[in-house]
Amino acid sequence: MSSLIIQTSFLGDTVLTTPLIAALAARGPVDVLATPAGATILHGNPAIRALLVYDKRGADAGISGLRRVARRLRDGRYDAVYLAQGSLRSAVLARAAGIPRRVGFDTSAGRAFYTERVAFNRTAHHAERLWRLSAGNNAAAPEAEALRPRLYPGAEEHAAVDALLGDFAGGAPLVALAPGSIWGTKRWPHFDALAAGIEEARFVVIGSADDNGLAASIARAAPGRVLDASGRLSLLASATLIARCTALVANDSAPTHLASGVGTPTITLFGPTVPAFGFGPLAPRSESLGVEPLACRPCHPHGPKVCPLGHFQCMRSLEPSRVVARLRILLVPPTAS
Ligand code: SF4
Repeated sequence: MSSLIIQTSFLGDTVLTTPLIAALAARGPVDVLATPAGATILHGNPAIRALLVYDKRGADAGISGLRRVARRLRDGRYDAVYLAQGSLRSAVLARAAGIPRRVGFDTSAGRAFYTERVAFNRTAHHAERLWRLSAGNNAAAPEAEALRPRLYPGAEEHAAVDALLGDFAGGAPLVALAPGSIWGTKRWPHFDALAAGIEEARFVVIGSADDNGLAASIARAAPGRVLDASGRLSLLASATLIARCTALVANDSAPTHLASGVGTPTITLFGPTVPAFGFGPLAPRSESLGVEPLACRPCHPHGPKVCPLGHFQCMRSLEPSRVVARLRILLVPPTAS
């Protein structure tokens, strides 16, 4: 049985789709349709037969682009498509591609075009929700490791990280920090204090070029102990760099999932969102931190640009000393049991 997975959502969702990809690959060939960025992060995944790109906001935008992609998919003669991204556009695409079995969530905007609807479990981790598109909701939950995402950096990514780290590698423990987020209120404002507060560690700042200012501020707080990698690595190379680190501290954003994909212990800081949404870290020894109780949390599915109440207590009150204490635990290697 050949399968197609359509996943053209956010980068983190794409990473969290890898357990579903692995499960379907055990039954037959699996192709994945992803955004250009999503295809980049899935590169090298041995469970994927073909990685197809749908540039829905660029070269494939509009009806003509959708028709073109549908024709390409039709050539694949898939038995089933799994709609990991639930938009009406993806559903129309699957239908236009003539794929007879179309499986998606019962809450998705495109559900009218599905032939099978799987209940969207609001209390499960999103990696498990996606995995259940193939397993169904009656299947026993698999081992945690089966639900942990997997990324597969190659020689190119390792070479890029070697070149970036240079003499910075070695010596004190290396900690990755991911201070950015496209959602303004998801950005924890105390990364500077965290770096200043752990003198025994060195830090690499992960992110896009948009995060250069945040990285510079962190570097000023911990002179000589911070390397700014923001905007200097591909997504998969960023995951490679995270894999070289003892731990990652991140907002509720894509780097958390990159770390899950390479098994780096992660502290994820939640403000306007909560782990119960299903996007917490999955690497061993990881944890989520947030301000509890705070009546206004959560206030938004993603995080508004600015705090609607003006005080931004969900992030401001998440004390650096609390994160420092938890990070220090991760800097101590686990004892063999
Ligand atoms: S309303 Fe509350 S949860 Fe939302 S951004 Fe403001 S402080 Fe955070």
